[in-house]
Amino acid sequence: MRTVPRKLVGAACNYVVFRRAFSQRANGIVPELSVPVLIVGAGPVGLTLSILLAKLGIKCSVVEKKSEFLQHPQAHFINNRTMEIFRKIGSLSTDIERLQPPIDQWRKFIYCTSLTGLLLGEVDHLHPQDLARNHSPTWVAHFSQHRLLSLLQLQAEQLGIHIYKSQEFCLNNLGHINLGYECVSIEQGSENVKARFSRTDTNTKDLLTINCSFLIGADGASSKVRKLLNIQMEGEEALQNLVSIHFFSMDLANHLIRNRPGMLYFVFNTKAIGVFVAHDLRSGEFIVQVPFYPPQQTFEAFTIDACKTIICDLAGTTDIHIDIKAVKQWIMHAQVAESYISRNGRVILAGDAAHRFPPAGGFGMNTGIQDAHNLAWKIGAVLRGVASHNLLRTYESERKPVAKANTALSLENFKAAMSIPSILGLDPSSARFIHEQVNGGIGSLLPHQVQKNIMEGIFALGRMQVGPLVLNSYNPLGSIRLKKLKHMLGEGRSLQLQFPAEDLGFRYHSGALLINEEEMQSYTDEHYVPGRRNEYKPVCAPGARIPHSNIRLLKSDFTKSDEAS
Ligand SMILES: Cc1cc2nc3c(=O)[nH]c(=O)nc-3n(C[C@H](O)[C@H](O)[C@H](O)COP(=O)(O)OP(=O)(O)OC[C@H]3O[C@@H](n4cnc5c(N)ncnc54)[C@H](O)[C@@H]3O)c2cc1C
Repeated sequence: MRTVPRKLVGAACNYVVFRRAFSQRANGIVPELSVPVLIVGAGPVGLTLSILLAKLGIKCSVVEKKSEFLQHPQAHFINNRTMEIFRKIGSLSTDIERLQPPIDQWRKFIYCTSLTGLLLGEVDHLHPQDLARNHSPTWVAHFSQHRLLSLLQLQAEQLGIHIYKSQEFCLNNLGHINLGYECVSIEQGSENVKARFSRTDTNTKDLLTINCSFLIGADGASSKVRKLLNIQMEGEEALQNLVSIHFFSMDLANHLIRNRPGMLYFVFNTKAIGVFVAHDLRSGEFIVQVPFYPPQQTFEAFTIDACKTIICDLAGTTDIHIDIKAVKQWIMHAQVAESYISRNGRVILAGDAAHRFPPAGGFGMNTGIQDAHNLAWKIGAVLRGVASHNLLRTYESERKPVAKANTALSLENFKAAMSIPSILGLDPSSARFIHEQVNGGIGSLLPHQVQKNIMEGIFALGRMQVGPLVLNSYNPLGSIRLKKLKHMLGEGRSLQLQFPAEDLGFRYHSGALLINEEEMQSYTDEHYVPGRRNEYKPVCAPGARIPHSNIRLLKSDFTKSDEAS
């Protein structure tokens, strides 16, 4: 008979303590609770980790500072490896495949002077071999992050994880997700971690203390957990400031479904420059990203009316109904944390808390979900007592090199995306240079309004390059630029959608591998050619994903009882 490990018995007892502590607060005593695994942040990474842990029988608590799940669409491209992980979570991968927009509505990137104006070029990112599913039982998907969060919540609830949206901190003897509590401090001991949380809806310092064996910081790009640990980020910071406008427009979506369906629309014209992400053309849900240059431009200036004007300028029409849901600003970085694990080995970073990439190539969330997958079985093995605590160190030695490679790839992709405006005479590095000059050199001595006027004047002049007078086949300069653009798109040198070699072909060279160095060297990486749209070549090597093969059971192999079961 199997005995229940002592640690798990202890964990179960802790849930009894939760109930007692809960009533203590009613008596004015600050409760102190205990849980084996505490996850800070209920983004896609925190939620996936809680589900994977629950599947392993490890109870955990997810604590999220917002009072509701993120509704602003960010990620939308789910790569093949992530879909394989989702395939292990109930019906998640098939739900995504069923609910995502039809492939013909997202296989292309479109380059144009407006959504209703001149088509400069388009790239179809779907190759015939993509649909064959030779290398994986799943495939990539186009499905918005906020919709994914809803599906993850459903899967969590089906596993018995309760979600508490009220401000009361609720606990039960199963896993739970509590919204509206922010992690404010961490105290590390040799055997445990103590984290303090405050309620985000009140000004009162209503603190709650939670003790845990392991704390996972899945709290996003500006991670408080990372800052509390004093872990620095390495790489390029603040590559670009952007404003992201979330809106619905069925008028625009119907026009695009009829005339130029696509996933991304890169728009360049004399009034504005921006990138539309068609999150779902069927419901008319879009995000438009526009470059933002503070402090000359202020975020407050992006009022609903100003945003509508930007959308109309980029759409090339005012004859559309637009329903703006939210406007956010964000900063693009290309960085990886210097360390993923605290000195006592009990506080661990995952997802954007550990790495933040340019979104070009869609690696951010995907890398984070794969961090969670790597971490879950290791935490499970340590808490069950079948592996030593040192196993968790292999999380960093396996995942950090992948994050570094994906950072470099995302940067390369970002540069490929920027090469299109450069060809059209809109060099983004010039805009950055002008912005730096106005902020730095002599420009900074000028009054704010003058700085703003100078910058906007120079940018408007720059945008003349993509006006109809220049960008036409009769203008010698315009004709050369249009030809160059056509070549670049045709040769696949612009931003790509899929990266099969990196998606399925990455390999761990050190970590939880039972192989000595000499043997390891006998496995070369010749098969692995990273880069732009290079094919994945299956290989059986330590640290690599085991190649997929479809297995067909012959009828004669079945006994009647097999068939019945
Ligand atoms: C425009 C854009 C497009 C993108 N497209 C893609 C794409 O196509 N594919 C892709 O893979 N990635 C993409 N990404 C990246 C992706 O959105 C992120 O990588 C992903 O959100 C990271 O997930 P996470 O769970 O690590 O962090 P987050 O999603 O940021 O979640 C962290 C959570 O922690 C909470 N939190 C923060 N601090 C605290 C605290 N102190 N206490 C408690 N809770 C806290 C936050 O409220 C948040 O809910 C894109 C990003 C952007 C901006």
